[in-house]
Amino acid sequence: MAIQGLVIINTGHGKGKTTAAFGQALRAAGQGLKVCIIQFIKGQATTGEALAFTSAFPGQVELHLAGTGFTWQQDMETVKAAALAGWQLAREKILSDAYDLIVLDELTYLIGFGLVPEEEVITLFRARPQRLHLVITGRDASQGLIEYADLVTEMRAIKHPFQKGVKARKGIEF
Ligand code: ATP
Ligand code: MG
Repeated sequence: MAIQGLVIINTGHGKGKTTAAFGQALRAAGQGLKVCIIQFIKGQATTGEALAFTSAFPGQVELHLAGTGFTWQQDMETVKAAALAGWQLAREKILSDAYDLIVLDELTYLIGFGLVPEEEVITLFRARPQRLHLVITGRDASQGLIEYADLVTEMRAIKHPFQKGVKARKGIEF
C-alpha cells in the first residue's frame, strides 16, 4: 500500500507552532525526505530557522519567504499581495509531486483574513500527491480545516515571558 501523507495542524495561542513545524521538517530531512517550507505573513530571512535550513540541507530542503516582515509595520495591501503570491507558490509546490513534506507556516491567517477561502485550501489539499505530508501552522485554524486534517495539536499558553514585558529574543523567538 502506498504511504498516505498526513495533514498536520499546529494551532492555538501558545508558543511552539512554528518551532514544532520546523522540528518536524528537520526530522523528515534527516530521514532523507524532500522538504519544502513556505512562510507566510511573518517570513523573514534572518530568523534562526531560516538561516539554519537554507545552509544545512542544500538541495533537500527548500525555504520560501512569502511574508513582508511584521504586519503592523506594513500596509495591508503589501501584506495581502505577498500572501497571495505565496499561496500561488504553495499551489505549484503541492501539485509538483517533487516533495514528501511541505510546511505552510502561518497559513491559517490567509483563511482568517479572508484572502483565500477555506474550500479552496481543502480542495487543493485533496488534489495533492498521495505521499505528500502537509504541516500547517497558525492561530485559530478554521473548523473545516481542522475536520479535514489527520493530526491537530493545540498549543495552549499557560505562561509566556511576553506577559512580563520581556521582548522577543534572538534564538528563542526568532
Ligand atoms: P514559535 O515560532 O516560537 O514556535 P508560534 O509559531 O507558536 O511560536 P506565533 O503565533 O507564530 O507563535 O507567534 C510568533 C511569535 O510570538 C513568536 O516569537 C512566539 O514566541 C511569540 N508567542 C507565541 N505565543 C505567545 C503568547 N502566548 N504570548 C506572547 N507571545 C507569544
Ligand atoms: Mg508561528
